[in-house]
Amino acid sequence: MPELPEVETVRSGLEPVLTGRSFVRVEQRRPDLRFPLPERFAERLTGRRVLRLERRAKYILVHLDRHEVLAVHLGMTGRLIVSNGGPERDLTLGQYVYEHGKDARHDHLVFTMSGGAVVTYNDARRFGYMTLIPEGQLEQDAFFAGLGVEPLGPDLTAAYLAKRAHGRKADLKAFLMDQRIVAGLGNIYVCEALFRAGLSPWKPASRLASRTGKPTPAAERLAAEIKAVLTDAIAAGGSTLRDYQRADGTSGLFQNEFGIYGREGEPCMRPGCRGTVRRRVQGGRSTFYCAVCQR
Ligand SMILES: [Zn+2]
Repeated sequence: MPELPEVETVRSGLEPVLTGRSFVRVEQRRPDLRFPLPERFAERLTGRRVLRLERRAKYILVHLDRHEVLAVHLGMTGRLIVSNGGPERDLTLGQYVYEHGKDARHDHLVFTMSGGAVVTYNDARRFGYMTLIPEGQLEQDAFFAGLGVEPLGPDLTAAYLAKRAHGRKADLKAFLMDQRIVAGLGNIYVCEALFRAGLSPWKPASRLASRTGKPTPAAERLAAEIKAVLTDAIAAGGSTLRDYQRADGTSGLFQNEFGIYGREGEPCMRPGCRGTVRRRVQGGRSTFYCAVCQR
């Protein structure tokens, strides 16, 4: 499943292809993805111009003219494949061009843009979805209402974590996986951030706050490490797990740089630590941790 850094990598790959361009042709090959596509979806998109691309949690937000937003969620296996779709190959787009077609039966939507780029939405398992939302209603929309702060935005601070964690009995991992608290953090990067911050995934979240609700040093470390690990992963082009590939079809490299995730049985990578990485199921997902340096 693409995590936040992968979604951000896709967003930035699409940016030069979509921004300032219009949808010339929209080919919709089925009525639904995970959910039904909006009424008259192809008709409503055709002719619309893309003003800018944003990311919120794990959604790509394509801001259109006439105050509407195309929200895209890649689900488990959703991919956006960019090809230039014409003999007059645009050099700027060339770096995003690659052959696909092996699994063309999972090409569910094909967007032809002004300028010649063709963006294909391919999704083998169809857990992804797309919807059109009026710009002014974005924050109230069912998909976005109640989402917590952006981990890379200015609102994620030690003080914010302390405020939300004060008096909470939930364990630290469950606290960070809660999308109402921090939006877009998933299993991999929660494990990585806790490892980097030297915090046990099983300790109660309340340790992030003092009795009076002030941030503890643990909260300071955690806020910094959440941002650092995501920034590093985005710089590396996102991780590649199972079906995930970058927008240009090449693989991200960050999975080779995980400090703890997927390293069960290996020696802990923290300098000076003699611990061994363990894996335990927590809240239905694998938690990788070092019992020696994550306290
Ligand atoms: Zn360790």
